[in-house]
Amino acid sequence: MPAHPPSLVDNFGRQVTYLRMSVTDRCDFRCVYCMSEEMTFLPRSQILSLEEMAQVGRAFVELGVTKIRLTGGEPLVRRGVMQLFRTLGALDGLEELVLTTNGSQLPRYAQELRDAGVRRLNISLDSLDPARFRRITRTGRLEKVLEGIEAAVAAGFDRIKLNTVAMKGRNSDEIVPIVDYAVERGIDVSFIEEMPLGAVDGRDRGEGFMSSDEVRGIIETAHTLRPTPETTGGPSRYFRIPGSETRIGFISPHSHNFCESCNRVRVTVEGLLLLCLGQEHSKDLRAVLRESPGDQEALRRAIADSMAIKPRGHDFNAQRMDRPAVLRHMNVTGG
Ligand code: SAM
Ligand code: SF4
Repeated sequence: MPAHPPSLVDNFGRQVTYLRMSVTDRCDFRCVYCMSEEMTFLPRSQILSLEEMAQVGRAFVELGVTKIRLTGGEPLVRRGVMQLFRTLGALDGLEELVLTTNGSQLPRYAQELRDAGVRRLNISLDSLDPARFRRITRTGRLEKVLEGIEAAVAAGFDRIKLNTVAMKGRNSDEIVPIVDYAVERGIDVSFIEEMPLGAVDGRDRGEGFMSSDEVRGIIETAHTLRPTPETTGGPSRYFRIPGSETRIGFISPHSHNFCESCNRVRVTVEGLLLLCLGQEHSKDLRAVLRESPGDQEALRRAIADSMAIKPRGHDFNAQRMDRPAVLRHMNVTGG
């Protein structure tokens, strides 16, 4: 048994039970808020192997983590990634294995993911108009993503949630149509405020920024929203649309009031354990993995010790959307 108690508690008394892990920095899309058109991706030697990722996931679960989200980049473009899903899905003590995806590979993988033990999916969708979808993602085909969403609905996941980054002048007139699309399928949708992560070319982030309050006002022109107390310990607030299965979430990373209940950490594709999305506090798990290959106790110790440097909170600021608060791009950190 581990020398450390199976629990990760930081200096502010918060228990970490949720790990978000980026499995690749690569992607088949180039969304305007996430990446530049030309991206240089990390060389293979710098990123964790799928086996190392499985080892990291296992160490966290041994330390009391009950939920793992795989994200990226686009997780489903990493070759062999289904084996990682199956290995993590079989871990004793892991209650929830979930995935964030752009949906492009779901026509092929939805059923396999469900069979590997993935319970819930988040699928990003910023527009229902093919030409606009193309402009936002630069390379994406809407048709493939909609096909992926239907495949996911058919595969019988516990819940499916759409993620929409709301942007003035880009998709603000599609907020109600996207809600209607979700209601018709009995799935959820969360609207995300854009975060200043990494420099992106060709646009000023501040210009298109839409607050959750603005988005909520638009939805309420067409639907009644009933607040629910549901929470994931993160920056989301949820509402229900009476008479439907759909929950509407608002993710407001700029607000501070979720930091005190923060239950999560992230591991980047390079194996950097990030204690807070908006701060640089980190621990290099790749170094630990490669200095003592196979030493699960050393890995657990490094993770447990890093709880001492989890900061109290982030300092994103909506007024400073022109300047990245943190130089990492979202695809490296994992959204
Ligand atoms: N490729 C997958 C996808 O798009 O769902 C997973 C990774 S992506 C980085 C995770 C989520 O982060 C997506 O829902 C995306 O819309 C969101 N995202 C990316 N950059 C963002 C930013 N600067 N601000 C807010 N959300 C962002
Ligand atoms: Fe790729 Fe997701 Fe980033 Fe879009 S948001 S470029 S799909 S990683």
